[in-house]
Amino acid sequence: MILPPATLGMLGGGQLGRFFVAAAHELGYQVWVLDPDKNSPAAQIAERHFCVAYDDYAALDEFAAGCAAITTEFENVPAGTLDYLAKFVPVRPHAGAVAICQHRVSEKSFLRDNGFPHGPFLTVNNENDLKAAPASLFPAILKVARFGYDGKGQATVNNVEEALLAFGHFKGEQCVLEQRLPLDYEVSVVLARDENGRVACFPTGENQHTRGILDVSIVPARASGCVMSDAEDIAARIAEKLGYIGTMGVEFFVSRGQLLVNEMAPRPHNSGHYTLDACVTDQFEQQVRALCGLPLGEARAHSASVMVNLLGDLWYDGDTYREPDWAKLHALPNLKLHLYGKRHARPGRKMGHFTVIGNDPVQVQQAALAARAAIGIKD
Ligand code: ADP
Ligand code: MG
Repeated sequence: MILPPATLGMLGGGQLGRFFVAAAHELGYQVWVLDPDKNSPAAQIAERHFCVAYDDYAALDEFAAGCAAITTEFENVPAGTLDYLAKFVPVRPHAGAVAICQHRVSEKSFLRDNGFPHGPFLTVNNENDLKAAPASLFPAILKVARFGYDGKGQATVNNVEEALLAFGHFKGEQCVLEQRLPLDYEVSVVLARDENGRVACFPTGENQHTRGILDVSIVPARASGCVMSDAEDIAARIAEKLGYIGTMGVEFFVSRGQLLVNEMAPRPHNSGHYTLDACVTDQFEQQVRALCGLPLGEARAHSASVMVNLLGDLWYDGDTYREPDWAKLHALPNLKLHLYGKRHARPGRKMGHFTVIGNDPVQVQQAALAARAAIGIKD
């Protein structure tokens, strides 16, 4: 067990890293953050900021020398960096697990090869692969294999011609072509797995996306108990197959009543932010616990909750840039506001979130939607 006041290392310095730093501090640890962004939200509150590229090996040497264990909050940290650091200090999750999740082709192949349910897809290396795509895949979504997030690097395509055009826009980068599924709704499971293979799943959440970005998470999900327990079971088996240690998120589609894995995130997940305010232990404390070899905390939700993301769009009133009227949210006593300390709001950028908690799921949903409208989020 790694105990306080040890120093923990965090690769990546966005809001997920910031919540990790806060959780680690709460437990008495110190945190060093490595992130090339000088305005990193996590680095603002960490003991030390290595403001360097992820492949600056001289800096990685110094980072590893000062950290008792290292984790990540950003799935695009090069797997080579994780492998290198692991020569000196425990790195959790391990590079192999992150490498699978950060590449859509290896991710889908992992699901297929291990018998996890997923939608029809095709790996696209070149134009010929697209020309040979079965007609049954269309309408489809073409997604670049690497570095996509929040719906970026994706194009909806109705036929081979449109797919070829989109492939050209992505400059011929390796892609997956996925059948566009009719979605009943989407759910996700956030879980933690420790070094002894014990898994603690947080309750399954229901996710609503707007323009490819998570908008609202509702917990408990408005799904049958069966769907929720199947999702938790699949997510736990995925973590086990990956030999995963830490907190991870698994996104699912429910399509024509069938549960299909969409993708995995090798880090805490936006849809798990509700755990900060509605669970006995939150997803970031679990990340600290798994990293340090502490027993996992209880993942039970003590309240129903609805989490609403606050995107940069909210800072714009037409062409005027101004701070949203936070007093509107503070007026609700069962609403918890979290702002990430980002310097500048851009449309689509995740700036913060709020969670409404309570005993009655229906009342919580109504209050959250009213708060969402009051702060000025348009549908
Ligand atoms: P990201 O890495 O940006 O989260 P996703 O693959 O999860 O990318 O896609 C974002 C959202 O787009 C999904 O949550 C879902 O709402 C929609 N989407 C993605 N793929 C499909 C699909 N094959 N069929 C239907 N909707 C999809
Ligand atoms: Mg996703």
